[in-house]
Amino acid sequence: MPTATDIREQVVELAREFAREKIEPFAAEWDRTHHFPRDVIDEIGKLGFLGMCTPEEYDGMGLDAVTYLMALEEISAADAAFAVSIGIHNAIPTTMLVKHGTAAQKERWLKPMARGELLAGFALSEAEAGSDAAALRAQATRDGKDWVLNGTKAWATNAGTADLMMIMVRTDQPNARRGAKGISTFIVPTDTKGYKAAKPEDKMGLRSSNTAAIELTDVRLPAGQMLGEEGMGFIYAMEGLDAGRLGIGAQAVGIARRAIEHCLRFCAERQQFGKPIQDFQAVQFKLADMATRTEAARALSHRAAARKDAGEDITLYASMAKLFASETAMWVTTQAIQLFGGYGYMRDFPVEKLFRDAKVTEIYEGTSEIQRVVIARALNRPR
Ligand SMILES: Cc1cc2nc3c(=O)[nH]c(=O)nc-3n(C[C@H](O)[C@H](O)[C@H](O)COP(=O)(O)OP(=O)(O)OC[C@H]3O[C@@H](n4cnc5c(N)ncnc54)[C@H](O)[C@@H]3O)c2cc1C
Repeated sequence: MPTATDIREQVVELAREFAREKIEPFAAEWDRTHHFPRDVIDEIGKLGFLGMCTPEEYDGMGLDAVTYLMALEEISAADAAFAVSIGIHNAIPTTMLVKHGTAAQKERWLKPMARGELLAGFALSEAEAGSDAAALRAQATRDGKDWVLNGTKAWATNAGTADLMMIMVRTDQPNARRGAKGISTFIVPTDTKGYKAAKPEDKMGLRSSNTAAIELTDVRLPAGQMLGEEGMGFIYAMEGLDAGRLGIGAQAVGIARRAIEHCLRFCAERQQFGKPIQDFQAVQFKLADMATRTEAARALSHRAAARKDAGEDITLYASMAKLFASETAMWVTTQAIQLFGGYGYMRDFPVEKLFRDAKVTEIYEGTSEIQRVVIARALNRPR
């Protein structure tokens, strides 16, 4: 009988091997050509990586959150765009369905998602409702036993490539607005009439992930495709984001780690003033700081994950981990460009992609400023 440690080692090794063989050699080309590798996502899905934390009774791997972060770090070190495409699926729609799905919804959606047969995404943001997501305006209206959805969502990861999206819309009516309490979540198969993903955004980084607006035009859904209770959608989204933010922490650590690995090789090879630049103490100190901050980010993320595994509320710790890890990834990749000198600024060398990919970790799933708002609010809450 394998122990939890054996399982962790096996899963992380499998993720590392897959990332080395099937993702990393192609990541630069996917980035250049904006290519979303759905075939490779399907392949990793068959190995169980689209159901990493889904309980075994729903066909998932049932991994603990720490192991999940370790596996995601391996994938992100190979390509952060690939990591976000599968990370969002594993974290947000999966968490929402596990916690609030009916038995029928779990059978119909959660199990095939965990088996890697369906890819999912999550659409909360709108053009006018980003940090202030509760101000969203997409509307669902009752029509007999159905709901009919109209509106436009912005920047949804996987919107143009997923099989289903978890979409947050208003179910309160314009004459009786209830703020965050007027939002509900719907499970929307992307082949439903009236669902249309716009052209993928032309992004600075994560160029092979699919990010797109969604047009909802008279999307008719049976009442059974609402998730959980009416009016609870915003709470479900925030719960999903707690899990999502842990994943962004691992994504950021993977980016930072890979930048350091490239720098160690480059600094040993690059000669100036008759010796490798790694012999200069200024370079050594920079590398030491990069490694130390990355290890601290990893530790903070794993600590938040361990709290999740212990069943504790992680809102505060997930925000701390995401904030620190994303700012670390941005700082480390900036130092990496500096260590590479002019080569760092060139597309032919790998660190500029890492720098571009790092930036968005400070923006999505709540900007760094919003993480600070969440942390400050939690600190001020009476205990
Ligand atoms: C690549 C990518 C993928 C994404 N994927 C998804 C997805 O899958 N699903 C989804 O729903 N959304 C997604 N998003 C949207 C993302 O979550 C939002 O961009 C993010 O929440 C910030 O919202 P905003 O862009 O509207 O910025 P704004 O909210 O307009 O913020 C602009 C600036 O104002 C600051 N600010 C705002 N409010 C405050 C405040 N109270 N205090 C201090 N500063 C503040 C912000 O920190 C930021 O610096 C994605 C975005 C990107 C770029």
